[in-house]
Formats: sequence, structure tokens, C-alpha cells
Amino acid sequence: MKHNFGAGPCILPKEVFQEASQAVVDFNNSGLSILEISHRSKDFEAVIAEAERLVRELLNVPQGYSILFLQGGASTQFAMVPLNLLADGAQAAYLDTGVWASKAAKEAKKIGDVAIVGSSADKNYTYIPKNIEVPADAAYFHYTSNNTIYGTEVFDIPSTVAPLVCDMSSDIFSRTINVADYALIYAGAQKNMGPAGVTLVIVKDDILGKSGRTLPTIFDYESHSKAGSMYNTPPVFSIYVSMLNLRWLKAKGGIDVIEQENIIKARALYGEIDRNPFFKGTAVEEDRSRMNVTFVMENPELEASFLELAKERGLIGLKGHRSVGGFRASMYNALSISSVNALVDTMKEFEEKNK
Ligand SMILES: *Cc1c(COP(=O)(O)O)cnc(C)c1O
Repeated sequence: MKHNFGAGPCILPKEVFQEASQAVVDFNNSGLSILEISHRSKDFEAVIAEAERLVRELLNVPQGYSILFLQGGASTQFAMVPLNLLADGAQAAYLDTGVWASKAAKEAKKIGDVAIVGSSADKNYTYIPKNIEVPADAAYFHYTSNNTIYGTEVFDIPSTVAPLVCDMSSDIFSRTINVADYALIYAGAQKNMGPAGVTLVIVKDDILGKSGRTLPTIFDYESHSKAGSMYNTPPVFSIYVSMLNLRWLKAKGGIDVIEQENIIKARALYGEIDRNPFFKGTAVEEDRSRMNVTFVMENPELEASFLELAKERGLIGLKGHRSVGGFRASMYNALSISSVNALVDTMKEFEEKNK
């Protein structure tokens, strides 16, 4: 048995992989593969409608928001957000909490005026800047709720009157959020929602159409909203697998239940990192992510040997991102508590062996 701690594409529930693999051979007893059915067919219409319903239900999305299933990953949203929301002469505010946050700001700068209202670059992004001041007249305020690479997470949303835009790629569906606080939320699916190839966008309809810009249709949220994410061929299989994963989440009891599990998983692993004299966490305690746990060794020379032992114990994907080093254990929704326990046990075993 493998325990997949990879940061993305992520682990999904075994049942989801099984059902998806069946659908590749024969979808809904239609005699056709999910990979060959028309995206305009009744069968697929039912899939995308259920996916949308599940997003609305699980996240309690209020009236007045569109749910879009787009392509191009979260990285395309780095450009689409300013194209659609940042008018000429206006300024957008960005919080710089890591690689993805700064890439988002960099793209926005190509399109309009951007103010960086806070940054934790001074300490290699090990914390979330607090008490940020966002200009009241900002076109929007963009932040990244979970910093996949640095293992920090924003638990208290900065208070601002500017419309909130959030990249939730790596913690969406992991904890309760209040969608009404946001003008726009986006997430590449492959961290916690499904396989790569689809990007979820939840956008408040009344913020659209104000940029004064004539956009190519494919980059215009309004055109996707009007077309029900069917302006062009949508990523049928990725939407289908995401739908199966959201069904799994609902059957499990929804966001409240998964959030409690995620808290228990995080407590177990951070507890061991803090207890075990061989390891130490990299993020400041109050900003520690529940999704991506970054840690290093007191003696970096032992890291290769720990990775070796981890591999023997079936623990996969633990090598840290090059900009942090050490290890990163990603604990997305589908990673079970028993996998976390397997990692904790391996850390204890390593301690015993190297005492
Ligand atoms: C992975 C990631 C991205 C990039 O996503 P793509 O879908 O590969 O473009 C953006 N933001 C965050 C927070 C991520 O974790």
C-alpha cells in the first residue's frame, strides 16, 4: 500500500479512481467511454449539472454567483482575474505570500496597476503578514488562502472593503468558508478537487462587465457564465472525476466532517514534528497549513536517509519543494488518517534507529 503525500496532482479516494476507470470503459451502461461521449449529450449535461449542484451545496454558495469549469489551470486565472476586474486607471491590491501569490501579482502587473500591500518574502514566506492595509478604492484585493509550497495558510481573511479575490487551489473544500465574503474564488482542481485539467471559478455576477475592456471571448467570464461552461469543449473527464470526488465528499458528511478530519491529521503530524528531536517545522506555528506540512531536519545530512526509510514504508511524494528543502507532506482530503499515522510511525522509527 502506498501513502501519497504528493503536492499535486493529488491523491483522490480509491472509490473515485475505480468508478472513473469503469466509466472510461463503459459510461453509465451506454456502451460508450466517458472519453468519447459528446459534451452536448444528455449524459454529460447531467454530469456538469451535478458537479455544479455539489459545489453550490458543499460550499453553501449564495444566489448571484456563477460556477464555472474552465481550462488553463489556476495560472490562467492569474491573467483572467485582472483582465476582467481591473479597469484602466484602477489599482488592484495583492498580498505576497509565496511563489503562486507573486506569480499572480506579476501577471496582473502586465495588465494594470498593482500594489503589493504585504509580503513575507523577507523570511522566505514562513508566515502570513498581518494587519494589512488595503486601499478602500482598490479594484479588488487578491490573496492565496493556502501556500502550497511554503506550508502556510490564511485562516482569518484580511478585512477590506475592496472585493475579495482568492486563489484557493490547495485548500478549497478542506474547511468551511463563507462564499458571500468573496467576489471571486478560483482553484485549479488538481490539489483538492479532482484531476488536472479543470479549474473551478466561483464568481459574483455583479462584479463582471466593468473593466471597460473588450476581451477575447475565451478570457471573458461572462461568456463562460452565459454558456454554462460550454462556450467550447469543456474538459469532460476532469469534470466527471471532480464530480465523483465531490459526491464522495458529500457522502462523507460534507465540509464540516472533512474539516474535523483535516484538523486531526494536522494535529497528529505537527505534534510529531514538534516532539521528535530530529525534525522541525518551517512555518510559524499560528500560520501552519493543514494541507501542506513543510518540515526539515535539525541535521540536514540525514534527510536523504529519512527519505529512503520513508520510501521503504510506502510513503510517496515527501520531498520538499526546492525553495524550502526538507520535506512536504501534503494531506489533502482523500489522504486518510492511517496514512498520516504511517508517516508519524516512520518518523518515530527513524528517531529510534538514529539515537
Ligand atoms: C498549484 C497551484 C497553482 C498553479 O496551478 P496550475 O493549475 O498548475 O496553474 C496556483 N496556485 C496555487 C495556490 C497552487 O497550489
